[in-house]
Amino acid sequence: MRQPPSHYPGLRFLHSPGPTHVPKAVMDAMSEQPMDMADERLDPLIADCENGLRAIMRTNEAEVFIYSSNGHGVWEAVTVNLAAPGQKVLVASTGHFSDSWALMTEAMGVEVVRTPYREGYPIDPADIEQALKADAKNEIVAVYVVQTDTASSITSDVPAIRAAMDRVDHPALLVVDVVASLAAAPYEMDAWGVDVTLGAAQKGLMCPPGMAFCAANARAIEVAQANPAHRFYWDWKRRRGAPSYKKFCGTPPQSFLQGLRVAIDLLHREGLDNVITRHRRFAEAVHAAVEIWAQGGQIRFVCQVPSARSVSVTTIEIDGVNPDTIRQVAREQFNVSLAGGLGPFFGRAFRIGHLGDLSAPMVLGCLSAVEGTLRMLNVPIGSGAIDAALDSLNAQ
Ligand SMILES: *Cc1c(COP(=O)(O)O)cnc(C)c1O
Repeated sequence: MRQPPSHYPGLRFLHSPGPTHVPKAVMDAMSEQPMDMADERLDPLIADCENGLRAIMRTNEAEVFIYSSNGHGVWEAVTVNLAAPGQKVLVASTGHFSDSWALMTEAMGVEVVRTPYREGYPIDPADIEQALKADAKNEIVAVYVVQTDTASSITSDVPAIRAAMDRVDHPALLVVDVVASLAAAPYEMDAWGVDVTLGAAQKGLMCPPGMAFCAANARAIEVAQANPAHRFYWDWKRRRGAPSYKKFCGTPPQSFLQGLRVAIDLLHREGLDNVITRHRRFAEAVHAAVEIWAQGGQIRFVCQVPSARSVSVTTIEIDGVNPDTIRQVAREQFNVSLAGGLGPFFGRAFRIGHLGDLSAPMVLGCLSAVEGTLRMLNVPIGSGAIDAALDSLNAQ
């Protein structure tokens, strides 16, 4: 057996859709010594993170709760705060991530109603409308929506889902998972009528994995207050207000907060609108390259609706080659980390992450490495994919 090397020179290009590349300023901030719990710098640090997250989610009203956990932890936090065992939530099926969230919710004793899953397509708001209409007694407490399903790389239309809920005048809360889309795709918590938003730090927010958060508006807080489910660590009520020890149900994750504050500051210095525009621009360059690769007949976008293609990640289905081989060659020959297929796409697809702290040469480098890998493996592809990506970048 050939041993993979234990060191690769140069930068490793991290093109997984989370964790993403962490800017040096964020790493540096995280390497500072911890503070004692009464240090006067601690409360402003927490407030800066809460306010910064509110600005990025575009909410003035919602309360922010930060957890030292990953995104899965906040899935649990949201459910245990909003729904008691025996109550119902509606999960909009988007694939792997909605499925995982639904299974976790069921494991907590909450009943889950699912909309039909259509591979390759975003959420159809009509399915949500129909499921809520069928719920004549208003038993559904919340509708769970994943804005971008990171497995399929499909982004759904959250305002259209809100409009569908409003058409049937159902009181369910709208809960949106923006783990893979925040600080990459447009998102407007207040303007879109979202009641709860949940995210994690290691994707568009450019931090190492280990911290996640949610924001709940007054309606959601009210539902949580009336919810009898047993809870403690995740409980929003216990986490409201000072002191900081209470807000985190224990010691605040100071190093992470320091990193997050710097990451948020970087996003604001670039300008949130510019961050969104940059992600759109890079995504279009990636899509331009994939379109050319697809001309060889063995490569396809999983997403069947071009306008629903994610700006964060692109899932590429491939015939005739094991996607793990693509990842291995890209890693070993080009020092580029790609992601594999998840859930229904396991063994069928690989993914290029293109979110977070990225510049155009990083995107072009990744695309060149994928092209080189495909050529090495004799996968038939159209010619000129990198030129097409450059043209796409220059056209904007
Ligand atoms: C990554 C991801 C999660 C899970 O986050 P973890 O931090 O891995 O637990 C949840 N939802 C979406 C859409 C994701 O992309």
